Amino acid sequence: MKAAIALALAALAVTHGAARAASARQGPPIAPALDVVQIQPNFYMIAGAGGNIGVQLGPDGVVVVDTGSTESAGAVLAAIKALSPLPIRYIINTADDDHHVGGNEVLARGGESLFASGNLGPGGGDNTIINNAGAASIVATEDVSQRLSGAAGQPSRYPSVAWPTEAFERRQKTIYLNNEGIQIIRQTAHTDGDAIVLFRRSDVIVTGDIVDMTHFPVIDLARGGSIQGEIDALNALVDLAIPSIPLPWKGGGTTVIPGHGRLAQQAELVEYRDMVTIIRDRIQDMINSRMTLDQIKAASPTKGWSQRFGAESGPWTTDMFVEAIFKSLPPKKG
Ligand SMILES: [Zn+2]
Repeated sequence: MKAAIALALAALAVTHGAARAASARQGPPIAPALDVVQIQPNFYMIAGAGGNIGVQLGPDGVVVVDTGSTESAGAVLAAIKALSPLPIRYIINTADDDHHVGGNEVLARGGESLFASGNLGPGGGDNTIINNAGAASIVATEDVSQRLSGAAGQPSRYPSVAWPTEAFERRQKTIYLNNEGIQIIRQTAHTDGDAIVLFRRSDVIVTGDIVDMTHFPVIDLARGGSIQGEIDALNALVDLAIPSIPLPWKGGGTTVIPGHGRLAQQAELVEYRDMVTIIRDRIQDMINSRMTLDQIKAASPTKGWSQRFGAESGPWTTDMFVEAIFKSLPPKKG
């Protein structure tokens, strides 16, 4: 089975520019800030564009998970074009943060809708209702769609070509492209519109900001995030990812692309989940002892992890993380 998959992937690589891919991997970086990391013959992570980007290649074209910041979009598009001569067909967004959707416009326009004339094979017409004016399709949860399009009350930050063309409200949306099933599973964790994306044959999960290997996870209460949702999402990820057991020295297992930081494996998801759970429990205990928020902050409930994941300044400090958990938990009962 494994050999058959390897052969299929090798065939894909041969038909779709293995030489270009190899030069992108071994040569100088395409843009100084970007790091293109090969995970499978047909799967890459682009780091350094604001948030991590997953790139799946194959005969149907390119599928991209998240698009980085607006400033990096030109360099990201160039990096993707160096990996495959085929157009970007789909963009999937994990949340509506600017550093994950900022490149939607440039990457969508740089791609081509499957629903534009002639792309769907024999009998496939030109569906002008959903073809994003010829640009690549965009999948995200309905909550992300509302925020990006301005339907949530705030004016839209982006032109309509950057808005989702396929928003979903159900627990999961699936698409099948490049010979593999892609599960887009909604979560209420970092925000109420998160999605994690599982590529079943490549065995890659893109987590968005539910997992940040450089910081404590951002729990944005204003956008409907919650600590319980975060822990539920981490538990879901721990269950979806498969560790390299019983042959750990072979280095297999599911590859996890976090929202930020380096690639991870199932064991690191377990550690991250345990850390967040322990910090939550510590803060709940302090609330139950009737400590105030300031007293809780002073008591360092993140002790043991502050050095690695904490921050004294910047957009997401340790104090902000503690405060978000505090406000997300019920007050002491009785
Ligand atoms: Zn992020």
